[in-house]
Amino acid sequence: MHSAEHILNQTMVRSFGCGRCFSSHIEKKKSKCDYRFDRPLSDEEVDGIMSKVNEVIRSNLPVLEEFVARGEAEKRFNLSRLPEDAGDPVRIVSIGDYDACPCIGPHVNLTTEIGQFRIISSTFQDGVLRIRFRLSSLT
Ligand SMILES: [Zn+2]
Repeated sequence: MHSAEHILNQTMVRSFGCGRCFSSHIEKKKSKCDYRFDRPLSDEEVDGIMSKVNEVIRSNLPVLEEFVARGEAEKRFNLSRLPEDAGDPVRIVSIGDYDACPCIGPHVNLTTEIGQFRIISSTFQDGVLRIRFRLSSLT
């Protein structure tokens, strides 16, 4: 789930030039991510995001972690979503050459382990775009 969130975030950044989600709720079955946005997404855009995320998953990219000194990490990444006690050095999780971001959560080793990514709904209210998604195993 965490790895799917990272891919979704990078896809949103690349597709719409928005920031990564500012808030997320990651669970085993279903998750949601909130983005600062200016409008609702069209059905075509939702389909496009799903295709892109699944394409990245199917590329079977390696998910790797590296540890970067906090001072260095601050220059390269937004650390605001890390907990205060995340420590130094900071753990950076990269997904192939598609994405890299600081994270303390659990991750897969290869993106195909994520399974099939599906957006359940996207809603827009008061400048916040909420995307709910779920994963199912690849068949
Ligand atoms: Zn993560």
